Amino acid sequence: MSAKTAAGTVKERAELALNDEFLRKAVKFTTERLRNGKKNASAEHGNWDEWRERGRQIRLHTIAHLDYYLNLFVENARANGVHVHFADTGADAVKIALEVARRKQAKTVVKSKSMVSEELHLNHALEGIGVEAIETDLGEYIIQLAGETPSHIVIPAIHKNRYQIADLLSEVAGEKLEADTTVLAGFVRKKLRENFLEADIGMTGCNFAIAETGSMVLFENEGNARMVTTLPKTQITLMGMERIIPSFRDLEVMATLLPRSATGQRMTMYMSAITGPRRTEDADGPDEMHIIIVDNGRSLQLGDPEFQELLNCIRCGACLNACPVYRHIGGHAYGGTYSGPIGAVLTPALNKNVAEWDDIANASSLCGACYEACPVKIPLHDMLIYLRRRKVEKGHGNKLEGAGMKGFAAVMGNAKRFRAALKMGQLGQKLVVRDGGIRTKLGPLKGWNSYRVTPSLPKHTFRQSFATLDQEIREGLKEMSPDIRARMEAAVKNRGNAGQGGGHGHG
Ligand code: SF4
Repeated sequence: MSAKTAAGTVKERAELALNDEFLRKAVKFTTERLRNGKKNASAEHGNWDEWRERGRQIRLHTIAHLDYYLNLFVENARANGVHVHFADTGADAVKIALEVARRKQAKTVVKSKSMVSEELHLNHALEGIGVEAIETDLGEYIIQLAGETPSHIVIPAIHKNRYQIADLLSEVAGEKLEADTTVLAGFVRKKLRENFLEADIGMTGCNFAIAETGSMVLFENEGNARMVTTLPKTQITLMGMERIIPSFRDLEVMATLLPRSATGQRMTMYMSAITGPRRTEDADGPDEMHIIIVDNGRSLQLGDPEFQELLNCIRCGACLNACPVYRHIGGHAYGGTYSGPIGAVLTPALNKNVAEWDDIANASSLCGACYEACPVKIPLHDMLIYLRRRKVEKGHGNKLEGAGMKGFAAVMGNAKRFRAALKMGQLGQKLVVRDGGIRTKLGPLKGWNSYRVTPSLPKHTFRQSFATLDQEIREGLKEMSPDIRARMEAAVKNRGNAGQGGGHGHG
């Protein structure tokens, strides 16, 4: 079964993306930059794996005691003067936000980046009651103008290059803007300033919520979240229920892991911790502050042995930048709010038993690069395999693929068959190898070879090369002095004995 979302199947959307040269170049360029940035920042920091483990332990502990830490957070946030709301579903969360907007007779809402807001399609809902929602994160602003959804958790407009962005902004400016990043960012900065000053409500997401103080913490680079949280009189924060960490001490670990993993920065330009609305002695800040804690399918993961660790995610986007599939097709091909490896697992997990998402786990090479990149070590590759198994068990598997896998297992599980298949492959490929690779687009190779080249099988197998090398060593021994030869022969003999110990059929 290949169920369709509104915009087609994963395969159809991936095909569209692969045929979009612009998109592929833009996504490749930025993900490479982010990946290298992360690599350098984590190497420079040192002991990266130890810090990853610390991050993982903090997240595991918090999620295992989520009820306790949520209660503590709510108690402290209320004591700080925050109105805290719980929303079981996306619809509940939207209803709460709209009620606040109506009561405040809001005309405009300025928003800093929030993936939960995207998940709830809140902008449409606000428009529905006549409230203009204005995205103020540069990437979000661009995709709002384009009428699109984010294609990356951290860099929402990753699929666009500066020429496309210049075209979009030129329409707003009413004149042709130069495709220069300083010019374009300068134009948006000036435009948004008016919006910040006029807005009735500021709306944010939440990177972390600190249970011990009832504070919510935002990481950003543009300063727009600071504007959103200081200028409008009313503030609404949307927060996934898993965003909690116990204390500011734990924030130190998260502040080490998040910026480095997300953008390769030691620290983002701004980190704001907001603890309640404006107090009389404060120079600025909202008079009224609401926090909406959103479940919307998250609690389904609690106690689920396969998926609970999903709640550990800190939305850094590193798994997207590392994923060879995401780097080819970008985010929209995944079809949901969250894309890349985390999206391929999170979307079906949040929408349990919705057949529409059965295919999404196929958008992975199962190489494990996502796990290696993840700062809190979420085993996404295991989850993807589980989702694929679940799809087959539900009877939604591809019969041809199933037969192919059975054949593959029969060959790989038997040394004789493996050697015979290898020989046949070496002979058969002579018909199709060109310039060191297999480029034919016939049959099952069509999809794969349309966008890459399949490497050909080497002339000699590992065993053949090894036997030749062994022979050469033995020949060489004959020319050595008797003493050295005796020692070398002993070493070769020992190696031979060790080799009898039951190999794994590496061929
Ligand atoms: S799964 Fe890991 S790497 Fe991916 S967004 Fe979440 S925390 Fe980052």
